[in-house]
Amino acid sequence: MSGRLQGRPVLVVGAGIMGAGIAQVAAQAGHPVWLHDLREGAAGQAKDKLRSTLEGLVAKGKVTAADAQATLQRISVAKSLGDARDAAIAVEAIVEKLEAKRSLLRDLEAALADDAVLATNTSSISITALANGLRHPERVVGMHFFNPVPLMKLVEVVSGLHTDRTVADDVFSLSRTWGKVPVHARSTPGFIVNRIARPFYAEALMLLQEQALSPRDVDACLRAAGFRMGPCELMDLIGHDTNFAVTMSVYEANFGDKRFVPSLVQRELVDGGLLGRKTGRGFFSYPAPEAPAAVDAGPAALPPDIVVCGEGRVADMLFDQVVRHVPAARRDGATRWTGLATATSQLRLTDGVPAFELAAAASQDIAVFDQPLAASGHLAYAVARSASQAWRDEVPAWLRALGYSPVLMADAPGLVVARTVSMLINEAADAVLQGVCTPEGADAAMTLGVNYPAGPFEWLARGSIEDVIGVIDALDATYRGERYRVSPWLRGRGEKHE
Ligand code: NAD
Repeated sequence: MSGRLQGRPVLVVGAGIMGAGIAQVAAQAGHPVWLHDLREGAAGQAKDKLRSTLEGLVAKGKVTAADAQATLQRISVAKSLGDARDAAIAVEAIVEKLEAKRSLLRDLEAALADDAVLATNTSSISITALANGLRHPERVVGMHFFNPVPLMKLVEVVSGLHTDRTVADDVFSLSRTWGKVPVHARSTPGFIVNRIARPFYAEALMLLQEQALSPRDVDACLRAAGFRMGPCELMDLIGHDTNFAVTMSVYEANFGDKRFVPSLVQRELVDGGLLGRKTGRGFFSYPAPEAPAAVDAGPAALPPDIVVCGEGRVADMLFDQVVRHVPAARRDGATRWTGLATATSQLRLTDGVPAFELAAAASQDIAVFDQPLAASGHLAYAVARSASQAWRDEVPAWLRALGYSPVLMADAPGLVVARTVSMLINEAADAVLQGVCTPEGADAAMTLGVNYPAGPFEWLARGSIEDVIGVIDALDATYRGERYRVSPWLRGRGEKHE
């Protein structure tokens, strides 16, 4: 029965970053809140900190003084779990250790009513494992908030094998009344966000390991594609120790599945104490130099005999740009690839096959450019190693004429955006195949949990499944391992559309 937790007392255990935020959100939604921490004085300190946070919000006019006062008054420090015996739900946010959490859950079972919900904010521990051994394991559920809790809308409501569906539904509707967007998830390593997001970091790290381009250029390309931060600056912000630990935990929990294999590049940063912002250096140095991004100031030109090849969204976009320079430009919808061509050269949208391989099968000069998710900004390209110097000079001028800032990189399959987005879609597809979440849940999780510009299934709807499969198959053909495996979910759908 949903709604049974509305307005009821909430016990938050662990008054650290997450627990304090959860207590604030629950109190602001009108619940009496008990806050408990093992460390003497910690809950009181968290309440004091919240007082000054709320004063700041009042000063900014975001909260009324009366509401701030009422919120604070609703929060009481529980010296022991027994103080909070009237709680209808406990949300634990203590250390990320299985044994500590299990022992706390046992204590909570003893202290609270038999029908109290026991929610855990764990980011990586199996909900099924946490519930094991309890008298009432069916009431253990994941309630995974994101940091900072008051600002981040997503809550993953995670069910383990024991979890009663009505308990998950109760927590789902409770999250809504707390102003959050809940998404149901099945307890599997990384749940939704921490699992689907892995390729965002992993593909960047792979390109860096191959010295395909610089961290600054990787970031520029993905920012241009709409991501708020590039993966390198984001890993520097999260901290390489934390990011590496999450990757390791997902990798190990999947029995060493190569899809999740951690990176030596990141391992070295961790080993060297170059953890990112918090240590003053990671991929970049901090405080970051205020140097403006390099302005790309080369010529912009297209030849008069240019032809726009292929059909679909990207071909249409290219044509719109091309006719501004060459009003008489022709179109050729018969090619099996998208891009621009003259009699002697081809600039192709990447389909995952490296330029040198395309060049081996063609008599023209070849270059490939990255998936353009936006109409301007940094865009990666690579030139076949057999290409003439004249063609190497010409490609960036073509890209500038199309409105992009060209970023030259090594001839790596799928360049930057195409491989990253394809692998994000692939991971999301596998999550759906395995019943971890629905496509809508995956989209909500990635846009609200990590601020992606679109959800993986939204990207998929804008493009074609065959293209995504093509890029991943091409990556697999290059790397020959288990990392680039097309999800059966995609393969099945792709065939249906053929
Ligand atoms: P934190 O270190 O800031 O706070 C943990 C608090 O729990 C500390 O105040 C500690 O004294 C207290 N504590 C430890 N053991 C306890 C016990 N047995 N009983 C009562 N209190 C105890 O940690 P955090 O970053 O707030 O993370 C807490 C939980 O939330 C972890 O499970 C973490 O994985 C998860 N989480 C963290 C983030 C994040 O970005 N920090 C995001 C999502 C989930």
